Amino acid sequence: MDKLQVLWDEKQAGHQNHDNEIHAILEELYEDGQMDAPAEICEIFTCPICRDVMLSAIHMCDLGHSFCESCYYNIDKCAMCRNNIGALRNYNLEQIRSNFIFQCNNKDEGCTYKGLPPDLRRHEKQCSYATS
Ligand SMILES: [Zn+2]
Ligand SMILES: [Zn+2]
Ligand SMILES: [Zn+2]
Repeated sequence: MDKLQVLWDEKQAGHQNHDNEIHAILEELYEDGQMDAPAEICEIFTCPICRDVMLSAIHMCDLGHSFCESCYYNIDKCAMCRNNIGALRNYNLEQIRSNFIFQCNNKDEGCTYKGLPPDLRRHEKQCSYATS
């Protein structure tokens, strides 16, 4: 798991794109089926711009930084590297995500709901802890 964190930090820092290695580790992790996302996984699926878990499409800049769909519609340059944001999507990451159970993005407000991404997306539309 530490290795995963290191690879991810390097990727987000723009040094190297470790996507293949990261995906290999993630795939190994979820071989046993659905599981609560451990902290490292939560971090990987957290949008670096808005700090919410990325529950819908995961978009990428030209350099490979990942961020969530709502940020995608709100920015025109990557917040990390100022590179362009094209039509790239991180389908591999989206696929891997579908096996992990995440906590509601309003957990800091007190929501205790957790679920698989599609369930969580539905939940968040009607979460009573939502602030915005
Ligand atoms: Zn975001
Ligand atoms: Zn970038
Ligand atoms: Zn909630």
